[in-house]
Amino acid sequence: MGAKTIKGAVTASIIFFILFVIYASLQAYTNRNTIRHLEEIQQEKKELQVTNEKLTSELKEIKQNIKKAPQQNPAKKVAYLTFDDGPSSNTSAILSILDYYKIKATFFVIGNQSKHGKYMYKRIVAEGHAIGLHSYSHEYRTIYVSPAAFHQDFDQIRNLVYQQTDRKPNIIRFPGGSNNHVSRKYGGKDLMHTLIQQMTQEGYHYFDWNVDSRDAERITQSRDVIIQSVLHGSKNKQKAIILMHDSQAKTTTVEALPAIIEGLRKQGFSFDVLTDQSFTYHFPPAS
Ligand SMILES: [Zn+2]
Repeated sequence: MGAKTIKGAVTASIIFFILFVIYASLQAYTNRNTIRHLEEIQQEKKELQVTNEKLTSELKEIKQNIKKAPQQNPAKKVAYLTFDDGPSSNTSAILSILDYYKIKATFFVIGNQSKHGKYMYKRIVAEGHAIGLHSYSHEYRTIYVSPAAFHQDFDQIRNLVYQQTDRKPNIIRFPGGSNNHVSRKYGGKDLMHTLIQQMTQEGYHYFDWNVDSRDAERITQSRDVIIQSVLHGSKNKQKAIILMHDSQAKTTTVEALPAIIEGLRKQGFSFDVLTDQSFTYHFPPAS
């Protein structure tokens, strides 16, 4: 073997070695990149899993809310018939009419210790209507003297309804509505604000009305005025909370009721009861 050949062989080996090192480095570099890439994919997978869990729980919550409040579908026209100041002899007639039309209503009751009155609380509940509390005495000059006076009266109607029906209603209507001015004469200008705060804190939901039947404007209002007031007042509403009364003198409210129900049906309304989950309406605070 000549010196030239040896030199050639060494050079070839060196070149081969260098090429090998370059190849090995490239390989290692590629591997490192692949590993880094795999790690990134794994990280992304983790993040996606977290997002997926979050979305699944959000979807579950949305589904539950839909189940809980089907009545809040804004496109559906719903009328809430409400009767205040009963029970009286008119209450049984109203219950029979509601039964005939197979619809449910809401009764904001006051104190009536007669045998018939006590029976009416029971019938309201037994026939699937909502019972709410209005006050025991409905005497503005008594209940609106102070928060303490209001609560004392309110305890009485709550106890009476509980004794008769085994129910503890959590829906109420303030006599005269939540923004009445008459309370100021007795309990000052902040009384309603205080009562609203206290009752809400105690877990009560209060309801005013956005349709007035005007059956309280006179001792006994004309039947036609009551019908027209309700049908006209509900016309452009999706949700109508309709104020009516089932106290002793309100015989024309009973007479108006079938035409009111039929008229509202013609306007596309279905009927429902007020609950702590339903549509609500509050007057703006009195100024
Ligand atoms: Zn009333």
